[in-house]
Amino acid sequence: MSAPPRDPTWADSSSASRPPMRHDWSLEEIEALFALPFNDLLFRAQQVHKAHFDPNAVQVSTLLSIKTGACPEDCKYCPQSGHYNTGLGKEKLLEIEKVVEQARAAKEAGASRFCMGAAWRSPQEKDLRVVAEMVGQVKALGLETCMTLGMVDVDQAKRLAEAGLDYYNHNLDTSPEYYGEIITTRTYADRLDTLANVREAGMKVCSGGILGMGEAPRDRAALLQQLVRLEPHPESVPINMLVKVPGTPMENVEDMDPLEFIRAIAVARILMPKSHVRLSAGREQMDESTQALAFLAGANSIFYGDTLLTTGNPQVERDRALFDKLGLHPEPIDPNARDARSDDEQAEITLAHAIQRQRDDALFYDATPG
Ligand code: SF4
Repeated sequence: MSAPPRDPTWADSSSASRPPMRHDWSLEEIEALFALPFNDLLFRAQQVHKAHFDPNAVQVSTLLSIKTGACPEDCKYCPQSGHYNTGLGKEKLLEIEKVVEQARAAKEAGASRFCMGAAWRSPQEKDLRVVAEMVGQVKALGLETCMTLGMVDVDQAKRLAEAGLDYYNHNLDTSPEYYGEIITTRTYADRLDTLANVREAGMKVCSGGILGMGEAPRDRAALLQQLVRLEPHPESVPINMLVKVPGTPMENVEDMDPLEFIRAIAVARILMPKSHVRLSAGREQMDESTQALAFLAGANSIFYGDTLLTTGNPQVERDRALFDKLGLHPEPIDPNARDARSDDEQAEITLAHAIQRQRDDALFYDATPG
């Protein structure tokens, strides 16, 4: 997958093509984007994409489950929840050496970021010490690091940041209104708190959602509105298509129209111009044309590797072939990405975080029934 000659028009840095970042999109404005004729929507998404990114570069991450199954949370889509019988084996926290070995293999296969996921409500003290060591050793390989460990408080987030963690993933999953249909063991406000803690610790935020869980079109717009309200926008926005796992309450939910999924990618690209929009879980169920449309709509990040936590992911060779067909190439690691944030930028983030928290306190309700 060597990089082909680039289209010189992609790096259009004129201010006209780079309108200021917005966080105040109304639901009606977002719904109006969703309602655009498909070609107009994709054209607009492409314009935004080309103004901020090399449109033929795709950031490549590899995801490893470092602790699988028996999660106390009840997320209805998740085979790792201890509330459902999906036949998934339960595993203890993987040894650091095994994780580093996998990270090395991922780097050799072309990944620039190594994501580690643990099925916890939140990390315990003894676990935190181990995962912090893991982060340090994976980072030493020259990879960007990302973890998803459930809810974290500010202190935990700071310890992970000090260990060298670049990104923390915590998805909002769906709209605040639909959330109670999907999870009852933690609230929407809990999720926003974790994202705020990650920001306060100076890490980058990876947050997105899952589509195709029986939500209404308005819920998709409302999910994106929540993401766009975060200041700054999450650096990474995974848009997942539900993988229907037998044994979970979502196993028989109606399929989502793939074109509606592409629309959501395009709207996410328009709303969060500088974010990497990740074509995430559910890619294995998509044919090449749908994936190509997703890249056209502005997706510029994928998970690459044989497994995506516990559900399948297209094989590395198939991905390589698709990249070749589409003339895509992996985005190189930016070695200074994290350190490049100035003190002023960090201060701005801390202030934005305080304002966000105040606003959230006023707006969000406890979605836990009972
Ligand atoms: S999505 Fe995460 S928190 Fe929810 S059940 Fe699965 S592993 Fe647990």
